[in-house]
Amino acid sequence: MFQSQCITLFSLCALISGYSEEDRVRDLMSRYPLIDGHNDLALQLRKHYNNQLNHINFYDIKEIATDISRLQAGHVQGQMFSVYVLCGAQEKDAVRLTLEQIDVLKRMCTQNKDFELVTSTQELRDSHLKHKIACMLSVEGGHSIDSSLPVLRMFYQLGVRSMALTHTCNTPWAESSSKRYSFYQRQNNSLTTFGRAVVEEMNRLGMIIDLSHTSWGTAQAVLKLSKAPVIFSHSSSYSLCNSDRNVPDWMLKELKKNRGLIMVNFHSNFISCKREANISLVADHFDHIKNIIGVDSIGIGSDFEGAISFPKGLDDVSKYPALIKELLQRNWTEQELADILRRNFVRVFDEVEKMRDKMVMEPPSEVQISLEEVHNPCRLVLRHPDSPSASDQHGPSALHILLTAVLLLSTLSLL
Ligand SMILES: [Zn+2]
Repeated sequence: MFQSQCITLFSLCALISGYSEEDRVRDLMSRYPLIDGHNDLALQLRKHYNNQLNHINFYDIKEIATDISRLQAGHVQGQMFSVYVLCGAQEKDAVRLTLEQIDVLKRMCTQNKDFELVTSTQELRDSHLKHKIACMLSVEGGHSIDSSLPVLRMFYQLGVRSMALTHTCNTPWAESSSKRYSFYQRQNNSLTTFGRAVVEEMNRLGMIIDLSHTSWGTAQAVLKLSKAPVIFSHSSSYSLCNSDRNVPDWMLKELKKNRGLIMVNFHSNFISCKREANISLVADHFDHIKNIIGVDSIGIGSDFEGAISFPKGLDDVSKYPALIKELLQRNWTEQELADILRRNFVRVFDEVEKMRDKMVMEPPSEVQISLEEVHNPCRLVLRHPDSPSASDQHGPSALHILLTAVLLLSTLSLL
């Protein structure tokens, strides 16, 4: 009742003053432009253009939902661009494909004057002052590092500042919410010894850990272990739509304790659990999550270019103002909207950097995954049998024992 009175009052004032709700949204979003948690443009660049950028007009790409003109119309100032390769590349050429996707995003973000590649909160703030759209790189799926911390570190060197621990496939060290792929299906798979090392190394490097796509078991284990806030870069509320990609209320409460962030996904299948949805149903997810954990842990992670059906009126990157208008009409304050639009994300990124600074004296992790855990024909083993490895924590392998015996025998025969 009170809410509808406020809306009526505001509409009346707006009518008298000539300051419309659209003006109010535009003004708010100009001061607090959006940072969105997830966009799969790079995937579309590969699919539609084979990563050949020279003939693309980035201000007008009709085939898809994202281009610079529409990002500007939607008041998008920062975008986490997904570096994604399909799970089918696991145990094959996932690392090469990931490098190619990093390359295409870096080229796109340096060749277009309205984009800017950013790798820190300082650069993110500076890019806002320069009226640029900040590109941030986020690897989507731990299969991209091929169970190697050196690969993770090299991705960081190339500018990657976030990684989702899984996509729709398990890795040898973490579990996906999806059962679509047969990779590494096994018991007690949530987060192995090596998985824990990945989390710790991401904390040390200052990379944002993304739990969208992980199983609840993996998410829970990471929420307990991570020293820095984590994000769900593109997930919605499980209470309103019971997709395994969404987050249940009990986990939202764990996320709040971690000071992390859920960035609400617009994909209709995760909003209504059907192919159709509308802006009101999206706003319901924001209302629900706010009721459960408050506004400090909420952001926006549209999933444009990574999904097939979006709500009516929210179907490309120019349409974010329609959602903000809906939330204003539901009595969200301008301060709350400023938080979900950008301030919460900047706070999380800032805390991740602060943890990195705290851990600056810790050396790069030399934990390696055991050979048994990554046994596949595409992996050339160069490790000396006596070299220390994660497998040593579980006792020597059969191969290790055999090679040690051969070495001993050959030494004895020399005596
Ligand atoms: Zn995704």
